[in-house]
Amino acid sequence: MIVCKFGGTSVGDADAIARTAAIISARVDRQPVVVVSALGGATNQLIQIAEQAAKGQLIGALRAVEGLRDRHIVETHRLLGNDAQAEDVASELSAMFDELASLAEALTTLGDLTPRSLDAISSLGEQASSVLVVAAFAKHGLPATHVDAREVMITDSQYTRAEPQADAIAEAAHRIVMPLMRAGRIPVMGGFIGAALGTGVTTTLGRGGSDYSASLVGAALQAEVIEIWTDVDGMLTADPRVVPDARLIHRIGFEEASELASFGAKVLHPNTIAPAVMKGIPVCVLNSRRPEGTGTLITFAAPRRSVTAIAGKSGVTLLRVRSPRMLLTEGFLRRMFDVFERHRTSVDVVATSEVSVSVTIDDATNLEALVIDLRALGDVTMERNRGIVSIVGNGLSDGGTSMSRALAAIGDLRVHMLSLSSSGINLTVVVDGQQVHPVMQRLHAAFFSAGAEAT
Ligand code: ASP
Ligand code: MG
Repeated sequence: MIVCKFGGTSVGDADAIARTAAIISARVDRQPVVVVSALGGATNQLIQIAEQAAKGQLIGALRAVEGLRDRHIVETHRLLGNDAQAEDVASELSAMFDELASLAEALTTLGDLTPRSLDAISSLGEQASSVLVVAAFAKHGLPATHVDAREVMITDSQYTRAEPQADAIAEAAHRIVMPLMRAGRIPVMGGFIGAALGTGVTTTLGRGGSDYSASLVGAALQAEVIEIWTDVDGMLTADPRVVPDARLIHRIGFEEASELASFGAKVLHPNTIAPAVMKGIPVCVLNSRRPEGTGTLITFAAPRRSVTAIAGKSGVTLLRVRSPRMLLTEGFLRRMFDVFERHRTSVDVVATSEVSVSVTIDDATNLEALVIDLRALGDVTMERNRGIVSIVGNGLSDGGTSMSRALAAIGDLRVHMLSLSSSGINLTVVVDGQQVHPVMQRLHAAFFSAGAEAT
């Protein structure tokens, strides 16, 4: 069996849902289980409705509820026509939006938005999309059956970021999903949502959680592969807005993908697919607008390449702490990182020498107080407008040639700091913010241009 997950843009409207049905039609033999996101943008709107209602702006909230209702009903009729079956689906969906309107009114009365009520509201997007997709599949002749995700995706009760309970999920998946597949049905469920163990109260797995749902279901059922259908061709060797000849990565290691995650490569966050990848289940990222593409396959063991991708970001702040006292003293790093923890500041890249430590920080909004505390440990300098470029490849440290080729490609552009990850697969350089793009372009040319030695 396989798991096919469709993100918000792949179920965004009737045309997208029809393409999704065609993709599943081509996979019936492989026993697909389908996981869907809310219609693109719906979750954001639901959260806004909840916030508005709790602030007492009931009229605006209710207007937004009607907007969402209309969108769902319009797409329902576009997909299903106007027969009795279409009316049934439309009224089932409409009832969900009645419930949403009552929830909004209750929030306005209470004037308070708890994580639990936020989940009750934000989960409605997937509750609705899954019902609509099942009906659309049936219309396309697919034997689809709706599965209420809350019966399968069992979690703890940390609302808005609930922790899945793998054993309970495996048990429920075998009890509920497996028999449907054996009977030749195509189970369809909403991603992102679950229910708390014991109480059954609706929870969510956190924003973007549908990938996580797909991975958990795939792991529970030992899927052959998990397909994540989205609106891009897969992961690329660089951001195509910076490097126009960036190429599709056909296969990438889970660790490599994780190293790239902090660069806003919004395709998917590898951690969300960890449950599957850890079990040896490959995850494939595919474009639902171009289903004939091969996509990117993420596996635990990937081909060894010196460079798989180059990523960069600017707007980074570099802090250097220099202390002669650090020489041969233990506990210096602990004291220093205590300061970062106290100021809730997360550090990205670190390099140390005998007497100094350099770190980069992404969010430089509240650094003044932090710097005052750091000064107790040594001389501190702060350099704003830096950028970082990472060269990621699981064979990067094999031999020395790739590393020297990378440094040669950077050439005369100034490097402020350099760090090689402990696994040796990520070489990060800190450069001037405005040099991020040229450095990425030079590196990409050195490793991927036609003339570059095959990697
Ligand atoms: N609909 C949810 C969100 O927008 C979950 C997802 O699409 O993955 O966060
Ligand atoms: Mg997503």
